[in-house]
Amino acid sequence: MTEKKELFFDLIILGSGPAGFSAAIYAARGNLKTAILDINMFGGQPSNYLELENYPGFSLIGGFELMEKFEEHADKFGVEKFPMVEIEKVDLVNELKTVETNDTIFKSKSIIIATGAKAKELGIKGEKEFKGRGVSYCAVCDGAFYKDKTVAVIGGGNSAVEEAIYLTKFAKKVYIIHRRDQLRADKIVQERAFKNDKIEFILCTIPLEIQGTNTVENIILKNVETNKQFNLEVNGVFPYIGFGPNVDKFNGQIKQNSQGFIETDNNMQTSLNGVYAAGDVRNTPLRQVITAAADGAVAACSAVKYLEQIELPLSSNV
Ligand code: NAP
Repeated sequence: MTEKKELFFDLIILGSGPAGFSAAIYAARGNLKTAILDINMFGGQPSNYLELENYPGFSLIGGFELMEKFEEHADKFGVEKFPMVEIEKVDLVNELKTVETNDTIFKSKSIIIATGAKAKELGIKGEKEFKGRGVSYCAVCDGAFYKDKTVAVIGGGNSAVEEAIYLTKFAKKVYIIHRRDQLRADKIVQERAFKNDKIEFILCTIPLEIQGTNTVENIILKNVETNKQFNLEVNGVFPYIGFGPNVDKFNGQIKQNSQGFIETDNNMQTSLNGVYAAGDVRNTPLRQVITAAADGAVAACSAVKYLEQIELPLSSNV
């Protein structure tokens, strides 16, 4: 077996969404030798957003385009980039933090966790079985497969309502199925959906089972007020019921809230020295590109201060 190579940095950033890239820009400008790693392609969740209209400075910009700009900006300051890495182990507890991939051990004295969040699953029968065959968590990726078809979006938040509107570009009918009688989405987003003829709301209703043969054919629903079950014929189901944190590699090492989001203070400091969390992965009141980017900046500045306090940055000793 060939030995893994070792790479030393002042700061390792895990995750390359708005929080990760913003942290990278601030850290590199703060003169830290910085590595940014991601298990996927760079850009994080916003790369999949069709467009954003609330990132200041851009009244309308594609999510992928915005994240390309973040990456180009980090490139300007010489951040070392490692996309598509297979992370096997992360040690946050020791003073020297390590991130082990299949061929490399990354070492640093500070680390920023900016791994974001992933779509929550409904946990109902048929969901796993029909994943990729009618069940999708990404309207932008899969919407075009539903041209002139009927789909159901589950959830009442911004994601559900915005993605439902997007799906009307392809589908002939889009149901929004929500468990309460009030939507959670912003009023401006709700208004757009109410005006869209292709959208029909089914409120106070939860999904019980997704059924079909090769692909999805129908969904069994239950009205929570009457307890009546009924069947709705659909070709696709898009659950948009929120997000949970990407923390698989850190569970048990760090303080997390009851939903698993990492607890931080105002400096993005976690329960461990030299470890910071930024963006959707942390316990934050607002999960937006702008708040994630702001978190990243704060986390990077905290890491700079921490390294100044402990001793010379590791990378300058090697
Ligand atoms: P969210 O705001 O947490 O909404 C999740 C929705 O799913 C809620 O309506 C919730 O119902 C429902 N839900 C949760 N668990 C469910 C279950 N097991 N079965 C059925 N329904 C369930 O999540 P999100 O819409 O993904 O948004 C996440 C964050 O990103 C939010 O802060 C949102 O504002 C932000 N976001 C912003 C934009 C934008 O500004 N352009 C776009 C997308 C997302 P209840 O309402 O009853 O809790």
